[in-house]
Amino acid sequence: MSRKRTSIEYLKGVGPERARLLNEELKISTFEQLLQFFPNRYIDRTKFYRTDELPKNNSEIQLKGRITSINTIQQKRGKRLVAEFSDETGFVNLVWFRGHQWIKDSIIINKTYVVFGRLNWFKGRASIPHPEMELESTFKNKIKRSFYPIYPSTEKLVNKGISQKVIQNLMEHLIEKGGPLFSETLPLYILDKYKLISKNEALKEVHFPVSQNSLSKAQSRLKFEELFYIQIQLILKNFQRKSKIKGYVFPLIGQTFKSFFDLHLPFELTTAQKRVVKEIRRDLGSGRQMNRLLQGDVGSGKTIVALLSILIAIDNGFQSCLVAPTEILAQQHFESIQYLLKKSVGVSIELLTGSVNLKKRKIIHEKLKNGELHILIGTHAVFEDNVKFKNLGLAIIDEQHRFGVAQRSSLWVKNKIPPHILVMTATPIPRTLAMSLYGDLDISIIDRLPPGRKPIKTLHRFDNKRLSVFAFLKEQIKKGRQVYIVYPLIKESEKLDYKDLMDGYESITRSFPLPNYQISIVHGKMKSEDKSYEMERFKKGKTQIMVATTVIEVGVNIPNASVMIVESAERFGLSQLHQLRGRVGRGNEQSFCILMSSSKISTNGIKRLETMVKTNDGFKIAEADLELRGPGNLMGTQQSGILKLKIADLVKDQELLKVARDEAKSLLIKDPELKNNENQIIKRTLSSNYFESNFWNFIS
Ligand code: ADP
Ligand code: MG
Repeated sequence: MSRKRTSIEYLKGVGPERARLLNEELKISTFEQLLQFFPNRYIDRTKFYRTDELPKNNSEIQLKGRITSINTIQQKRGKRLVAEFSDETGFVNLVWFRGHQWIKDSIIINKTYVVFGRLNWFKGRASIPHPEMELESTFKNKIKRSFYPIYPSTEKLVNKGISQKVIQNLMEHLIEKGGPLFSETLPLYILDKYKLISKNEALKEVHFPVSQNSLSKAQSRLKFEELFYIQIQLILKNFQRKSKIKGYVFPLIGQTFKSFFDLHLPFELTTAQKRVVKEIRRDLGSGRQMNRLLQGDVGSGKTIVALLSILIAIDNGFQSCLVAPTEILAQQHFESIQYLLKKSVGVSIELLTGSVNLKKRKIIHEKLKNGELHILIGTHAVFEDNVKFKNLGLAIIDEQHRFGVAQRSSLWVKNKIPPHILVMTATPIPRTLAMSLYGDLDISIIDRLPPGRKPIKTLHRFDNKRLSVFAFLKEQIKKGRQVYIVYPLIKESEKLDYKDLMDGYESITRSFPLPNYQISIVHGKMKSEDKSYEMERFKKGKTQIMVATTVIEVGVNIPNASVMIVESAERFGLSQLHQLRGRVGRGNEQSFCILMSSSKISTNGIKRLETMVKTNDGFKIAEADLELRGPGNLMGTQQSGILKLKIADLVKDQELLKVARDEAKSLLIKDPELKNNENQIIKRTLSSNYFESNFWNFIS
């Protein structure tokens, strides 16, 4: 199929100049790329509007009727030619600014025309400037097709004369005159199984559909193919990792694990936690490197799962590290794990963050090297070059925003056999999407919260209700509860946000005066000792109110704090709001989350707040986030630009994605090296680099 790679320069109607433009503006330079450039909508030329039911926007429409009169109107800025066009239900004006004589001469009054153009509304009256017109009697022969494709384009292309018509003509040459350009890319048995049409048919139909029905068929065929090949590549990668990358074998469940599990576990594991621990144990015993993503909503109990995995490593003579994105969180992990292990003799644990002094640091480095230290908990500092483990067997990464892949791998280039990797995330994303994004990781999900939690009550209040909110806080504080008040701090406008925070703090100190009320404040500009000092006071119950920026977004665990106030909540993203809310609801008392906002909010802002009020389920919130923002903006995927698919849509086509994934998976389980005859077509397609995509930059 050498023609696929032919430069479009050689396509009739292109030439060097247009080829350059198409490449610059649309990244199209070969026949293949042009064919894979799909319309984003279609105009249906079989559909006629009635003049009494015109859409109230500037859409393109088609009408059938007669011209009853035609007049030139003199205006300040020149002449206009206006024709009155009517059907049985009413009339619209057709307007021309140029070519008056020719139009006047060619129009036949009182004959039926088909008129096509873009509506223009002015003072409640519709007109159509420069319409395309065809006598009804010749329309059927003249009009080539029922659906006209409309392609994504740029202003520059339009200005340089590459109109929709030009692109349509190019496609037409390519498809109708170029013969079948593509060999099939899917095996026959898959086409049969899912009743998919052939590749050539689909390409033809997607550009020039003959009916809505055939268009849908073409679209699903092409979407399936796109999703299927993404999945095939992801799953292959996963298989390769499992067969090629050796991992340490941790066969033992030894004394450390057993005594902790039998004697010191502070609660019974939930079924979900048990399931995940089992999945991890299976990985650790397999001889292959574990590369697992643990998704669990805030408060779902990921820490204990991490600890149990660490204990298995210890029993097998290996060190572990647990890495968190912030000092506060690292500190907290350190404290809670130290606490959990207080009765486990002989397990050593240290904290390494940027603020650990040199002397202490040296001791830690030494103990890591000689193997005395079993567990290192820390921040990015753990990734520094001078941190050398004797035998790191397990690296756990508790991340809010995903650590860069490079950072993750810096941990294991130091060893020959890489440590097992467990990535924990409290930013759940829908499972189907997780599978497409992190398909090279295995996924575990903790989908149940520990028992006995009272669902957090979430309310939205406008700023003018502040006094009653404060009254409510006083009531709660009287009952012995503690309160967070969080202000947004968004980089670009840091100064302003900082001022908001300080103003807020002042007004809070006025409303909650000493000595009855003690207030802590924590924000990013403070020294880390001061931050810990304030956190500590709040944790010990010495202060009742914690005023903070989003530094407390992740992980902080203070069960007695039962009210979360989020200021300017409309400025936060959904997943951030969900994280913030997750700071409360950790004790036995009823918890509240109050979202404060100004009355000026965008529609999306309102929807975000409504979603928060409606549900506590992180997965549902992630779905809503996905719908509101589109997958490209999902937490952690912003810069990666990974989700630019050609035709499928990861939000709307989730069902199809699942089908494609299941098929890809079962096929590869049966034929992991694509050796079967019937699958040769897949192997060929993969090796032809047909699915060029920047997807893989992210994954590998
Ligand atoms: P996250 O998944 O957000 O990291 P944590 O591990 O911090 O959640 O757990 C949240 C709280 O729930 C902690 O106080 C922890 O002790 C408690 N917890 C975890 N698992 C259970 C369980 N199975 N039963 C009761 N409480 C649990
Ligand atoms: Mg956590």
